[in-house]
Amino acid sequence: MTAHIPLDAKALNDALARFPRDRAMQIGGRDAHAGGETIERRSPAHGVVVTRVPRGRPEDARAAIAAARQAFDRGPWPNETASNRSRVLLKVADLIDRDRELLALMDALESGKPIAQARGEIEGAADIWRYAAALARELSGESYASLGGDRLGFVLREPIGVVSIITPWNFPLLIVSQKLPFALAAGCTCVVKPSEMTSASTLHLGALLAEAGLPNGVCNIVTGYGPEVGAPMTSDADVDMISFTGSTGVGRAAMAAGAATLKKVSMELGGKNPQVIFPDADMDAAVDAATFGAWFNAGECCNAGSRLLLHADIAEDFLARLAERSKRVKVGDPLDPDTHVGAIISADHLVKIETHLRAARDGGAVVRAGGARLESNGLFMAPTIVAGVTPAMAIARDEVFGPVVVALTFKTLGEAIDLANSTAYGLSASVWSRDLDTAIAVGRGVRAGTIWVNTFMDGTPELPFGGYRQSGVGRELGRNAVKDYTEEKTLHVHTGPRTGWWVG
Ligand code: NAD
Repeated sequence: MTAHIPLDAKALNDALARFPRDRAMQIGGRDAHAGGETIERRSPAHGVVVTRVPRGRPEDARAAIAAARQAFDRGPWPNETASNRSRVLLKVADLIDRDRELLALMDALESGKPIAQARGEIEGAADIWRYAAALARELSGESYASLGGDRLGFVLREPIGVVSIITPWNFPLLIVSQKLPFALAAGCTCVVKPSEMTSASTLHLGALLAEAGLPNGVCNIVTGYGPEVGAPMTSDADVDMISFTGSTGVGRAAMAAGAATLKKVSMELGGKNPQVIFPDADMDAAVDAATFGAWFNAGECCNAGSRLLLHADIAEDFLARLAERSKRVKVGDPLDPDTHVGAIISADHLVKIETHLRAARDGGAVVRAGGARLESNGLFMAPTIVAGVTPAMAIARDEVFGPVVVALTFKTLGEAIDLANSTAYGLSASVWSRDLDTAIAVGRGVRAGTIWVNTFMDGTPELPFGGYRQSGVGRELGRNAVKDYTEEKTLHVHTGPRTGWWVG
């Protein structure tokens, strides 16, 4: 195939010269190389090897869990003062800022995402570490002095123990930063497994944690495939909690594995998020948000606004404007700062997206824009709009996880809410209307963890994030983010002489 999408060879070579190609896992404060076998990651845009990480084995996962267990049981981290824990987290945030460009390059090259977007994600990640540092100082329990003169009740918040953190490939440093700093703030110790496709920035983060003074064994990082390294992290009896972000199918399996030893779970899973647009909306803003929601991160985003629910009166006009706007979306070299949409994560994934589209076309849906991969040596796909979709079609219900948006229509508010709730997911949704009653009715009626009103995919660490139904279990971020990594202990104290049991 000819390269129709230009790729800047010099920018690639300059980027590759900035960080080591090979990296080690980190177990108990030492570099670990598994059995010597590695996983090579090729940039999905350029097709060249950009990183090599160890192919971890089950025994490596077990060694990492043992190191985390020892660091938890022997300390000092779980008993460290909140002030000192907070100081380490703040230092990590500063180091992330210092290495922002490096981390952004790693994520852009391994995942194919645009560099400008990756820089924003790294900046956002540092902000989350700072938020966790602030929450670390606020963690507290409750006390009851109301139980009588001879009794006191304390409800302690203790770190839950060893946490397995498993992350996907679409936002490598950002997603680990939604979990790890809060677990560390609580005093937990961790085993972290990034996706086998995007491990570099997480391994680099491990080096920053050591530089910031985190004691050995508190955070262990293993790399490799899910069934080999991830699975033991979900079943080992020495793990107390699983914090997982990824697909609903793997999340379900991880929960089932953890159930044998009754682990606490936090699950951030898939979505098929509706953007509900009423005729009285600010159409320019809604079209812009639909463009962003559908194609940001090439649609490889749990929060992608992949389902447009359009009021019938405006549907045609809206789709025409969206198709027009899609022509201005620049698909291209992830290292070009002007690129909006980069490469698709892998050849297999691109085939999956095409298979979804073929089934939709076979079922009678109409592709209004895009619909095919772009000619290139890399893996690129055109921003795609699919209309003529009915709620029963798979493409209306399943997560495509590519630059594909489907459009359905409705006539009444009730119908819009029913349509929004017609998938197994419930991660996020948005409503576009200038009418307060309409916006609030949709906001309350749609069963999803986040509802945006006249905006889309806005986020801040202060606001909790997570899914209803098969989009997940639990919430990340928000003021309870550190509490999620704790256990409650009741300390019931009796003072003075105790009345004996009636047997005397
Ligand atoms: P995935 O489920 O295939 O993999 C996620 C992680 O789990 C990877 O590290 C993988 O190696 C590991 N894994 C695979 N099999 C495992 C097993 N048997 N045991 C333990 N770990 C295992 O997901 P993905 O393809 O990397 O990411 C895309 C998915 O993630 C999408 O469904 C997307 O919606 C979801 N996601 C959700 C959120 C959210 O916050 N809700 C955010 C980002 C991505």
